[in-house]
Amino acid sequence: MTKKVSVPSMTEMLQTHMVKELLADYPRELVVDCFRKVTAASRKQQLESGDKAKTLDCLLSEAKKMIAKAYQPTLKKVVNATGTILHTNLGRSKLPSDLKEQLLNVAFHFTNVEYDLETGQRGSRYEHLEKLLITLTGAEAALVVNNNAAAVLLSLSALASGKEVIVSRGELVEIGGSFRIPEIMKLSGCDLKEVGTTNKTYASDYERAIDEEQTGLLMKVHRSNFTISGFTESISLKELKTVADAAELPLIYDMGSGTLIELDKYGLRKEETVSGALRDGADIVTFSGDKLLGGPQAGIIVGKKEFIDQMKQHQLTRALRIDKLTIAMLEGTLRQYLDEEKAIQTIPALHMLTVSESVLKEKAETLFNSLSHLNEADITLTRGKSQVGGGSMPEQELSTWIVSVKPKKISVTEFAFRLRQGESPVIGRIHSDRYLLDVRTIEKEEIELISEKVTEILAF
Ligand SMILES: *Cc1c(COP(=O)(O)O)cnc(C)c1O
Repeated sequence: MTKKVSVPSMTEMLQTHMVKELLADYPRELVVDCFRKVTAASRKQQLESGDKAKTLDCLLSEAKKMIAKAYQPTLKKVVNATGTILHTNLGRSKLPSDLKEQLLNVAFHFTNVEYDLETGQRGSRYEHLEKLLITLTGAEAALVVNNNAAAVLLSLSALASGKEVIVSRGELVEIGGSFRIPEIMKLSGCDLKEVGTTNKTYASDYERAIDEEQTGLLMKVHRSNFTISGFTESISLKELKTVADAAELPLIYDMGSGTLIELDKYGLRKEETVSGALRDGADIVTFSGDKLLGGPQAGIIVGKKEFIDQMKQHQLTRALRIDKLTIAMLEGTLRQYLDEEKAIQTIPALHMLTVSESVLKEKAETLFNSLSHLNEADITLTRGKSQVGGGSMPEQELSTWIVSVKPKKISVTEFAFRLRQGESPVIGRIHSDRYLLDVRTIEKEEIELISEKVTEILAF
């Protein structure tokens, strides 16, 4: 005997008032598709699990939720409660809020991105950035592409394709699981020539590897996301420059993060600056726009004009070219650096990096006090450590304050899952079966939202 199932017909559903309203807001195909899905699911439940038929209202409301969810942008803002400042999965840098007006201007209007307003002729999109980069780094010339991986690819392709590139074995890094120096080298048509060992590389290793015919350039790579300790030896940029000069070879330096300011002035570990690297002899320096610089995703190339000119002529530059929104946001970010004290305050990445522990403590206390009355969880206020992230400053310790939550009725993974749902997902960390909210990356304005969300989840 066949079981009896009951689901409303599509015609019946499409005639309801709610559907007419939905059709005004959403594409018809999406509405029809979602109704098909909810009726099919109900039919299946009736057949397989013997569930009762759902009412028309119930199906309509299920479909409405499904439609709204399907129509939401999948890319949305989230609250970063991980404490990791440059979290690659969460978009690395937030831009300075001063740039909002400029973003709207450039996004919703025509612009002079490649138009020279003086002459009325075609202009270059790179000019908007080059002067500022020269001012800020002391370089002779500059060029910007899509990201630092692209910057390295272009530098190698333009300057050493078909030649050997000499790199220390201790610097053959992989970043974020997809950027590997040996792979980029292959892609650019260069032959990687590894010298030294993982922990020790001397000037003589480079000297012995140089071949007058074959060698195209020497390359140094910043060990961004790892450290080698113990018996180590690596040669400084200055020493490497001496080797490069003796052989009349260009020296390029992939700095990865690349900072424009001396971070040790703000109580952080000493990091070489981009201008310092150029002064020490790098002919070309490449670095990211969205790591320590705190701007949009971009790959910045600065250095000797003769080499940058070669890159400007290269076909890859066209393929790796940056969008006008990136230009506008990078220009805006770089402009902040003209006044370093201001940059520290307005560039979110720098602000989060240099914020004092007392400010963090105060913020953590506000969050803690808004939650401490809840009985459904064990909630504590503790000290902790934040990370810089984004393959930057792996040795930098950052003391922070953390609100730690151990829910009593649900598991910590379920708690984390629920925090990730809805309009404003909150992303924290799980450690030793507790949920950690590190206030370093949380804005004051986000505390109320977190507090409401946690309260609602625990009370449910
Ligand atoms: C991060 C990093 C890269 C890749 O930069 P993206 O901007 O993410 O493409 C390349 N080299 C080094 C040393 C890095 O740290």
